[in-house]
Amino acid sequence: MTTTVRREIPIAGMDCADCALKIERALQRVGGVEQARVSLGAERATVVFDPARTSLAALARTIEDLGYRVSGGPEASARPPLPDIVSGLFVVAVAAAVLGGLAAERLGWVEAASRLVPAPVAVAAVLVGGFPIFRRVALALRARTVTPHALMTLGIAGALAIGEYGAAAVIVVFMRFADFLDAYAAGRARAAIRELVALQPLEARVGRDGQETMVPAAQIRPGEIVLVKPGERIPTDGVVVSGRASVNQAPITGESVPVERGPGQAVLAATINLDGVLRVRAEHVGPDSTFGRIVRLVEEAEAYKSRAQRFADRVTAYYIPIVAAVAAGTWLLGGSATAAVAVLVVSCSCGIALATPVAVIAAVGRAARGGILVKGGTALEALARADAILLDKTGTLTLGRPRVTEVCPADGRDAGEVLAAAAAAERYSEHPIAAAITAAAGTAAPHRPASAAGWPDGSPISGGQAADVQVAPGQGVVLREAARQIAVGSRRFIEDQGFEVAEAMDRRARDLEAQGQTVVYVAEDRAVIGLVAVADAPRPEVPEALEQLRRLGIRQFTMLTGDNARVARAIAQPLGIDFQADLLPQDKIAVVRRLQRQGRVVAMVGDGINDAPALAQSDVGIAMGAATGAAIEAADVALLRDDWRLVPGAVRIGRRAFAVIRQNLLGAVAYNVVGIALAASGVLPPIFAAAAQVVPDVFILLNSGRLLRAGRAV
Ligand code: ADP
Ligand code: MG
Repeated sequence: MTTTVRREIPIAGMDCADCALKIERALQRVGGVEQARVSLGAERATVVFDPARTSLAALARTIEDLGYRVSGGPEASARPPLPDIVSGLFVVAVAAAVLGGLAAERLGWVEAASRLVPAPVAVAAVLVGGFPIFRRVALALRARTVTPHALMTLGIAGALAIGEYGAAAVIVVFMRFADFLDAYAAGRARAAIRELVALQPLEARVGRDGQETMVPAAQIRPGEIVLVKPGERIPTDGVVVSGRASVNQAPITGESVPVERGPGQAVLAATINLDGVLRVRAEHVGPDSTFGRIVRLVEEAEAYKSRAQRFADRVTAYYIPIVAAVAAGTWLLGGSATAAVAVLVVSCSCGIALATPVAVIAAVGRAARGGILVKGGTALEALARADAILLDKTGTLTLGRPRVTEVCPADGRDAGEVLAAAAAAERYSEHPIAAAITAAAGTAAPHRPASAAGWPDGSPISGGQAADVQVAPGQGVVLREAARQIAVGSRRFIEDQGFEVAEAMDRRARDLEAQGQTVVYVAEDRAVIGLVAVADAPRPEVPEALEQLRRLGIRQFTMLTGDNARVARAIAQPLGIDFQADLLPQDKIAVVRRLQRQGRVVAMVGDGINDAPALAQSDVGIAMGAATGAAIEAADVALLRDDWRLVPGAVRIGRRAFAVIRQNLLGAVAYNVVGIALAASGVLPPIFAAAAQVVPDVFILLNSGRLLRAGRAV
């Protein structure tokens, strides 16, 4: 069995999506490389390889052979190298002289025959000014890839061959200008990521060896105590051990109203301690923190290709040969070498390759700032196309903080006994009902780290004692301890365990349920000993959010719940939505599948606690309040703030992004088709063709920029 490692290689000098693709392909061809992905936005390659067969150095060489630099950090690429600037200025000067000469000729100031720029100077300008591009084309050819720049290079060679030296110089200028624009567009897209990364806490104050020292935030050890003073960023996810403060969580949630944090409460890395001195026990550090995961997910978002982009990619594969054929035809059949050169020149544009990634990065970056974490373009696309929305009840339509409203003991039992028994079992469940019951019984479960899979310390399980717990998601809990057995759960669950519910208790339960309260039954050993009713407040902003979604044209809303129909109706009816009740987690998946078979694009909103499978099955799973939970991984879209209005906000961002992507692609394709037709028919001379090929890039850049600026999503 071979073991592979995963390494990240920072790359400088990539200026369009095409470059990223080129490097990616080259890396994938290296023996021993299992997986390679190059991110334009994050300026790095992520490679999974077998260290026995290749090395980091070899991979770096592969990248450098293509003409890019393996950099130490993002600053390295901030400025183009000096020779590029000098050669650029030289060719700009020559081209200006050529154009000036043309204009002067038109105005009749000089004789047509006289040339301001002698041919040798123009040729030198072409060779020097175009060198960075020729070099890249040559390197790409050596790596067996043909880029659109190859067409352009061919066009320049053609222009020189037919004696249009001035035109060739002008072409080089526009080509360099287009490259600059592409780099600028890529930089703009990166800005969304850089802005996010800039929020990263850099240093932390820890107590080591009996004294306070500053260490890089990434070097905090989990479990270590960190001191955070007023005005400082909290450097790690953790739990407050002492002190109180208002904390601005906007970097994570987009919500600027501060929250109060004190002992026992969780705080997140990158949030800001406004006014107190906090001692925090570190839990998740650096890349493992919620913030670290957000940054990584945003960086990876662009790796996606929309369906439209995949189509465009297929077209691009044929594009170069087709353009070459059109140019050849124009020359051989039409007899015009000048027109053939114009065809080659007008068709070179990075535009099509840029269309999707620039828009996706901009939209995802913009969404993250508003507290919506969209995991890539696939999720963005599904958001844009969603036409059915499924909603979980507990924790999603309701606050998920139910309170015990009534304990109803069976004959001969007392309420305290019922509650204590229920709490003994619920200690092991993460369900909101469990939290309500343990809180009411005064036996709140010890704090558990948000994503912990295991049991709290000191639990009978980790203590190795004879206790056996079964948590049945969407049903209930069974605890078997040395002397007793306790079951807590829904009516169906308790009956499945072989218990019977007495007539009087059944009547009481129906009454409570008709009011929207959830009833769970408690059984000990042989009999049902009572019921516990819990009520959960509805989220106040849900009606408004649903209204916004309706205005976006979404018509189908269905609440899915494991609760029974009486409770479901009490909650769903006032909201004007459908419901399906008595569902087990696998039934929820079946509902999603059924809709998908009907051709619906399903968005499911849940809290990720027991609906993760349905979230995963839906086309886009949206998890509420994910900032402090494991749900951040469970869903395609994580709402980092508990606010339903982020749901229509996310849909809007998706739709805007897709409108822009469609415009980008259509615009670029239509423009190239028209441009090639005009060039082939001789209407567009090479000089203007060169100027024209910059237009799609400018269009895509400006059009995608709208996503960054777009007003508040929510
Ligand atoms: P929802 O679909 O409303 O989120 P769930 O699927 O989580 O609800 O649970 C459905 C039903 O199963 C609850 O109404 C409750 O009756 C029962 N149940 C689930 N988990 C528990 C638990 N830990 N303790 C008691 N009852 C539970
Ligand atoms: Mg739930």
